[in-house]
Amino acid sequence: MNLLDALGAVLDPPGLLTGAADLAPYLDDPITRARGEAVAVARPASTEAVAAVMAAAAAHGAHVTARGGGTGFVGGAVPGPGQPAIVLSLERMRRIRAVDAVGATMIAEAGVALAAAREAADAAGLQLPIVHGGAGSATIGGTVATNAGGLNVVKYGMARQHVLGLEVVLADGRIWHGLRALRKDNAGYDLKQLFIGTEGTLGIVTAAALALAPRPLARATALAAVASPEEALTLFGLLRRRLGDLVAACELIPRSALELHFARRPEARDPFATPHGYMVLLEVESPAEALDLEPLAEAALAQALEADIAVDVIVARSERERAELWALREGLAEAQATDPRVLKSDTAVPVAQTAAFVAEASRAVEALMPGAVPVPFGHIGDGNIHFNVLAPAAMATEDFLAHKARLAASIAEVSVALGGSIAAEHGIGRDKRDLLATVRGGVEHDLAAALKQALDPAGRLNPGKVV
Ligand SMILES: Cc1cc2nc3c(=O)[nH]c(=O)nc-3n(C[C@H](O)[C@H](O)[C@H](O)COP(=O)(O)OP(=O)(O)OC[C@H]3O[C@@H](n4cnc5c(N)ncnc54)[C@H](O)[C@@H]3O)c2cc1C
Repeated sequence: MNLLDALGAVLDPPGLLTGAADLAPYLDDPITRARGEAVAVARPASTEAVAAVMAAAAAHGAHVTARGGGTGFVGGAVPGPGQPAIVLSLERMRRIRAVDAVGATMIAEAGVALAAAREAADAAGLQLPIVHGGAGSATIGGTVATNAGGLNVVKYGMARQHVLGLEVVLADGRIWHGLRALRKDNAGYDLKQLFIGTEGTLGIVTAAALALAPRPLARATALAAVASPEEALTLFGLLRRRLGDLVAACELIPRSALELHFARRPEARDPFATPHGYMVLLEVESPAEALDLEPLAEAALAQALEADIAVDVIVARSERERAELWALREGLAEAQATDPRVLKSDTAVPVAQTAAFVAEASRAVEALMPGAVPVPFGHIGDGNIHFNVLAPAAMATEDFLAHKARLAASIAEVSVALGGSIAAEHGIGRDKRDLLATVRGGVEHDLAAALKQALDPAGRLNPGKVV
């Protein structure tokens, strides 16, 4: 029996795709424009069927790349050229198996869209506090496998903080039933951590037990204009001192990013009468409905104005005004997402170093490519500034593309020199594998290689990614 016959024997007809036109949507990574090759797409509808696919792959020496929504930023869900490869799509495993409103937990299958899981939590009067622009397509499996972050990491942490237990199919087809929804569990090694953020290289996540949080019932949103990233950082410090964990988002917005957004959306308008070099989008929230957060946020921002940390402030007075402020933040990411003339970057430094990072990365970029425009935006509250770069106006796109890798490496060098990371929230995938090898060598590399050897000795799971 060959591989396709073996897969056909364990999958129902909708579970196996082999035609070129059927495979195409699963071989493409829209963000990085990566393309891959595979002999089949397996779409199992149950954990047992996933296990049977993995056993068939093991028996026939096939490589397996798991795929969720295909929204990752580093080419991780695209199979490499090593033949034969199977794409294992979790899209038919879409059941929310349980929601426990008292214990504030949920068990969701890997193919459930992040937005759908958030809606299910909301229906139970709770929230799954993982929020980002790709939530409509990104899946729970992909969220766990990439340890996704997002807009409110400053308050709630990354995906890892919300994973209580996992169900995982191993490379040899065995199922690990680790789906415990426990808040406290020190019984032995915390094995679920092996599969969080390891991008499908150590196992296939089929379901996750997730910790939910109280739903925010009081909220205030504001935009502060500041002169530079230094003032933005000082403002963040002041807000944290005065408002503590009420701060749910603190986002840096540079003028350069706004200009890209305005060029794409001419109907969008500048929130301030005078254009400012930088802005900080602030959101505070609490589950305590009686808490009036607007005056609290206003008082903190008034102190920032008095101390010349902020130069102007807008507080959203309605849900519509709040939506307009967030539309600016979302619009500036969308404006750059697939533009080949923008280099996308995803580094993180210790929070106190974010302003130094922006200054030094700007100098490095100018030295390497005079006229290139830094577009540093994002999560100043957790040190994850996306230091994107717009090609110089006079440079041809092909020339820019040819220099992108060097540009990315120089930004990563600045981050590492400041004690930072080369991958804050999007992971390593295919695109940053070589870069990872340059910064995580020695004992750290040996430990990672030992884990890979122990869990996937034949190197079948997502080869060419991460390790
Ligand atoms: C508009 C937009 C905004 C975004 N904003 C953010 C953001 O703010 N923060 C952030 O962190 N991300 C963001 N992302 C990126 C993306 O949504 C996340 O990386 C997401 O977690 C990927 O989920 P996915 O289901 O699409 O996974 P895929 O892209 O399909 O896969 C990603 C990786 O996980 C592996 N994988 C997928 N499913 C499984 C599984 N069940 N078991 C094992 N491995 C698996 C794949 O092999 C691959 O290596 C954004 C994306 C978009 C399009």
